[in-house]
Formats: sequence, structure tokens, C-alpha cells
Amino acid sequence: MGTQFSSAWKSGLEATNLGQLLKSRFESSNAVFATCDDGRKVTRAQFWSIAGRMASTLTSAGAKPGDRIAIQVEKSIEALALFWACVRGGFIFLPLNTAYTPSEISYFLNDAEAFAFVVDPKKQIDTTAKIFTLDDAGHGTILDGSEDVTNAPATWDDIAAILYTSGTTGRSKGAMLTHANLASNALALIDIWKFTADDVLLHALPVYHTHGLFVGMNTVLLSGGKLLFHRKFNPEAIISDLHKATAFMGVPTFYTRLMPHVTRDNTRDMRLFVSGSAPLLAETHTEFETRTGHAILERYGMTETNMIASNPYDGARRAGTVGFPLPHVEVQINDGMIEVRGPNVFQGYWRNPEKTREDKRDNGFFITGDLGHIDAHGYLVISGRAKDLIITGGFNVYPKEIEEVIDALPGVIESAVIGLPHKDFGEAVTAVVATHDVLDERTLIDGLKIKLAAFKVPKRIIFVTELPRNAMGKVQKAELRKGHAGFYG
Ligand code: AMP
Repeated sequence: MGTQFSSAWKSGLEATNLGQLLKSRFESSNAVFATCDDGRKVTRAQFWSIAGRMASTLTSAGAKPGDRIAIQVEKSIEALALFWACVRGGFIFLPLNTAYTPSEISYFLNDAEAFAFVVDPKKQIDTTAKIFTLDDAGHGTILDGSEDVTNAPATWDDIAAILYTSGTTGRSKGAMLTHANLASNALALIDIWKFTADDVLLHALPVYHTHGLFVGMNTVLLSGGKLLFHRKFNPEAIISDLHKATAFMGVPTFYTRLMPHVTRDNTRDMRLFVSGSAPLLAETHTEFETRTGHAILERYGMTETNMIASNPYDGARRAGTVGFPLPHVEVQINDGMIEVRGPNVFQGYWRNPEKTREDKRDNGFFITGDLGHIDAHGYLVISGRAKDLIITGGFNVYPKEIEEVIDALPGVIESAVIGLPHKDFGEAVTAVVATHDVLDERTLIDGLKIKLAAFKVPKRIIFVTELPRNAMGKVQKAELRKGHAGFYG
């Protein structure tokens, strides 16, 4: 299900899978594809052959088309090439967050029944999967193979990758993404963001997540552009390389960290700044524009759907909105919830048909779990996660509304509103407030009472110096709920 709802995206393409799409652009091109932050340059032909060597290592070890190849390594060009090794060999690429612990890794390897696990040689993992190494310098046994592999005959509907969702509610699930899902999305983004062979993308995102992996890598790969490849996000290093780049993609935290350093002068050669993966505060958008003259282009996507919507390249980029659906992608709001259909939408959760049926309608629409509406200008606005909804004494409370009011109070850096177990209310609205000042809980609560209906006002406020965030800049509400579960006794 999925691709049949729109096959228009591939009109004019001769290729019948991702490998073919890339081959003609890479196999014998001596153009530089990536320049790394240590000065190393990798040409397109070299990248293609690194992928070939890895595919041959895996094939020689007995990997068959459809086998899952899990990977947990530091960011490197080779880590990107391993995705293409899987494409070339017909295997399924399964990237894992570098922060996962050995017991979490065991869960993923078992759940996916991984054939192989490519891992940093320093890590010890007890698994039945075949182990190959890849260190942070891009060396390891995964590169031992010869170069001559013929690409496996895949179709657009074959699974190219399984990306496990971040699992904020319950166990992480594997989202199955096909060649068509990835190719259609990359081509749509190249089209609307106007990527060409002249582009240089400054790449500082992790490569185990859809944003840095597919949005960052594939737009550049398929448009013929180049990567300026930073293995870590370091604001000073970004600033010093901006003049060599034309485009940058970041999570909102990247932009708040870059803010003190950006000027009109040091962003002068850039044509595009993209933000996504978490909400960009309107004030960040405005301040960045004031400092640099560039309006950040905010887009919306998720692991299961690739990118869904984007603010326009030409035309107003409206702060606090995520713009319009991508070409060939349909968005509808059903009961306040954003649903999406198109060639970008995944095939289902790995070996979890019940969950797939719960989240994906028979008519192909995927229920994102995000709440939203279309504003007066026709732009999509995300107003929170349905799963964050708090039900207190029978009333529904939407945390984002409360957070916006709290964030506007003096001394508050930011806030996260959560529901905690409470014997009277079921859940008690509770605010976790980040501040560097000494704030008085009672005064804050009294201030909120003037602005919010009584049932929405937090019963208590917990002060912290910063909110817990994951590498993609998302506030970890599940962690907050867990850490404070016994707060009301
Ligand atoms: P992930 O699967 O890790 O990419 O997370 C996807 C979720 O991130 C979405 O369902 C949204 O809740 C959130 N998200 C992504 N982009 C945005 C955005 N521009 N604004 C607000 N939330 C976003």
C-alpha cells in the first residue's frame, strides 16, 4: 500500500530502483561528492566503489537480498556509503542511534533478525548477527570486499531501509521504507528547494535519522551537488565553513546555538537554511532573519513518511507553520489530526501488522499522531502531539497552548507541560520550566490563572536549568513523565 496512490512522481524516469537512479550519476564521475571536515575529499566514483566493496563483503559472507544489515557507528562517509551498499546488494539498511545501549541494540537486532551488524570495533555486543567493524575514521572489516558487484535487481516497491521510530510511547517500531518512498521524496525536495549540481550542503546532522540520512544525503546525491561533511555539530566550525556552502539543514537547536554567531556577512553566500524534526520557535525564525536577512525554511516530516510539507522556496515562509504538502503528497485533517498519503508514506511497521492497521487507513492515509490545522493563508500548522494530550478531571488539555503562555513569562527560557498521575484528577497538569533565575512557583501559577481557564493551569511547577532533549532537538516528554511519575504521591 502506498505507492499505488501516486505513481506520477516517477513519470519520465527510466530507472526502476534507487541503485539505477544513482549509478548513472556516480559510477564514473570524478567530480567531488564530499569534502570532510578533516580535509579528505571523496569523488562520486570513489563513493560508488566504497559502496560496492561493502556490498561484496556482505554478499561473500552470505547476505541475500532482503536481509537486514544493522549499523551503529559514528558519522562518516563510509556510514553513508553503507546505505548504498545495501541498495546495490538488495539488502535492507537498518541504522541505529549511536546513543543506544547494548541492551537496546540487542532488542533491535533480535526484532529485525539482522543478518549482519556493522559496529565500532570498540563496542562489545553479544549477538548471533555476523559482526563487521567500521571505526570513526571510516576503516574496518566491512571494507574488505572486492569492488565488482552487480547491482541486485530491485523494484521501486522493495524495502530499502527500516528506520526504528524514536519510541516516545512504548517500544520502538521499525518503519519499512521502499525505494519509491525514498526516491520520490528526494526528487520532490530537489524540485521544491531548487537543488542543483552547483549546491554545496553543509551537513552536520546525525546520519542514523531520516533528516541527516535521507533528506540531507539524497537531495545532494540525486541533484549532483556536493556535501561539506561535518562529523559533529560545532557552531564555530559551521560558521567558518558557511562561505563554502550554499545550503544548510538543521534541527531548531542548531539554529538557537548558531544565533549568537550569525551575521549578514558570514551567511552572505548561502541560499537556503532549512529547519525541521521539531518545532522552530517563531522568535528564532524572526531573530535569524533580522540577523542574517535569511528566512529559515521550516519543513515537516517523520520517519514513517519522509518529508510531508514545506514552506515555499519562493513566497512567504511563515514562522510557526510548515507550509504546503510536497508534490504528489496529500494532507488531510481528520478530527484535528494530520493524516498523509502519497508515494512518501512507508509500507508498514516491520512484523507489526496490528500497529500498521491501527495507524494506516485502508484508503492509504497514515495517521501521523500530530495535531494540526490549516491557517487562514492555507499553511499547515502543527499544534502538538495527540499522545501528549493531558486528560485532567475529564477535561482535555493541549500542552502546547499552556507552554506558549508560560514561555512568554519573564525569566522563563522554555517549558514542557506534562500530565502526571494524580489520585483526584487522573492526570495533573504539571509544568517543567527551564530557567536560570530563581522564580517563585506561586507567583507564576497566579500569573497563569489570569490567562488560562482554571483546569488548564498547572497544579505544580518543577524548575530545571534545561529541558532534556534528544539529538534531533525533541524535548523528551516521556523521560520527564517517567522521572516525575511519583510527584503527587
Ligand atoms: P521523527 O520520526 O523522529 O522524524 O519525528 C517526527 C515527529 O517530529 C513528527 O511527527 C512531529 O511531531 C515532529 N516534527 C517534525 N518536524 C516538525 C516541525 N517542523 N514542527 C513541529 N514538529 C515537527
